[in-house]
Amino acid sequence: MTCEACTKAATNPGSGLYHANCEECQHRMFMQSLPLHLANLKGIPASEDRRAYIRVIEQKHKTRAADALKAAYLEWWDSRKAKA
Ligand SMILES: [Zn+2]
Repeated sequence: MTCEACTKAATNPGSGLYHANCEECQHRMFMQSLPLHLANLKGIPASEDRRAYIRVIEQKHKTRAADALKAAYLEWWDSRKAKA
């Protein structure tokens, strides 16, 4: 499930090339914005609101993207607990 833009990105991650109909490209594009989504999540105090945010990500960007965001958030959460 890759395309020419994916092949180029494999050797040049900063290629900035994405194909709208390629699932792999869509995911790469989402991963570019992951820090932004993570910052948004960190700013949401209620866990049910965080779950709602992740649900929206899942609907817009597929489960894989939502899983990546959840994993990034949990990693941050654990690192916070480790310091406390
Ligand atoms: Zn692609």
